[in-house]
Amino acid sequence: MCPNGIRGKPLSYACPVERLLDRLGRPIRDLRVSVTDRCNFRCVYCMPKEVFGRDHPFLPRAELLTFEEIERVARAAAGLGVEKIRITGGEPLLRRDVETLVGMLARIPGLDLTLTTNGALLAQKAQALRDAGLDRITVSLDSLDDEVFRGMNDVDFPVERVLAGIDAALAAGLAPVKVNAVVKRGVNDDGVAAMARAFRGTGAVLRFIEYMDVGHSNGWRLDDVVPAAEIVAAIDAEYPLDPVEPGYRGEVASRWRYRDGGGEIGVISSVTQPFCRDCTRARLSADGKLYTCLFAVHGHDLRAVLRGGASDEELAETLRGIWSARADRYSELRSAETEGLAKVEMSYIGG
Ligand code: SAM
Ligand code: SF4
Ligand code: SF4
Repeated sequence: MCPNGIRGKPLSYACPVERLLDRLGRPIRDLRVSVTDRCNFRCVYCMPKEVFGRDHPFLPRAELLTFEEIERVARAAAGLGVEKIRITGGEPLLRRDVETLVGMLARIPGLDLTLTTNGALLAQKAQALRDAGLDRITVSLDSLDDEVFRGMNDVDFPVERVLAGIDAALAAGLAPVKVNAVVKRGVNDDGVAAMARAFRGTGAVLRFIEYMDVGHSNGWRLDDVVPAAEIVAAIDAEYPLDPVEPGYRGEVASRWRYRDGGGEIGVISSVTQPFCRDCTRARLSADGKLYTCLFAVHGHDLRAVLRGGASDEELAETLRGIWSARADRYSELRSAETEGLAKVEMSYIGG
């Protein structure tokens, strides 16, 4: 590993990337780019219908960053150490011609480019995304029980169409496909073992996510969270698991391998075992605000900087200033004190 900790580079590597650290010594490694705040699902834990109804004021098109603006931010971030970009939303496949953006970002050297989707449009888009240069994909799927899944996405969307999307992604060469499931107590927790059974030994790697208190609209209660340890225990009872060492600093999922060689699963324990000390992520909202924490109250307005005529060096300087002032560690502080804080919605900031 090179002095900047870049994977696969020897210590002697003359690294062109500067070492930018925040106030807690964390480098900037990942950028999540939300390309739209709109979604064709109304997942109960993310965009409940009562809040995101027909007359919800989504962002007008002129307020969204253009693909060229996103590319400029991505290039500046890559120059400061970002190695991985995840395109997200809202539902990113709803952004028209998103594969054009994929193509533009795929040309930035040394970046791992991935995308998170609900899978609804994936069957028709997977090949175009792969051809444009997407490296990997994550598909969100909370249950294999059709009735439970239709209830959780709350638009009556069937499981089989998401499964068709996963198959199309695998066929297009986007392997391994990660499948993310948010587990909510009393809603889909009884389906965890069935999901493990279905995805074992396939090209898909299942990752269970603890239900988080993002935003204000999902009515989060600690009682609704199924701790990652409980999820692992449920699967281990049927298919014994062994822990896997993390692949790199800042890996959010803790990984477990089936003892019988059936592949692995991941669990993301953002509530019960926060990982702020290794958090290397920045998030760019669809309207160009940069957030240094999923639970941040304020974003930094990069669109104003971009549209104000900043040069590439000025843009990089702005990013440096924002990251070096960062001291966020919300999940470690999660308490009565932080409970009532204003927060942004997951569908806006992109998860
Ligand atoms: N629409 C895309 C999708 O669902 O994959 C991308 C955006 S979505 C906000 C990104 C991820 O955030 C999804 O995997 C979703 O399940 C997760 N998510 C949303 N709300 C959550 C919550 N309250 N707790 C945990 N994960 C959540
Ligand atoms: Fe849409 Fe994704 Fe949020 Fe579900 S989790 S409502 S699919 S943005
Ligand atoms: Fe990172 Fe904020 Fe999540 Fe902590 S709470 S892991 S700082 S995004």
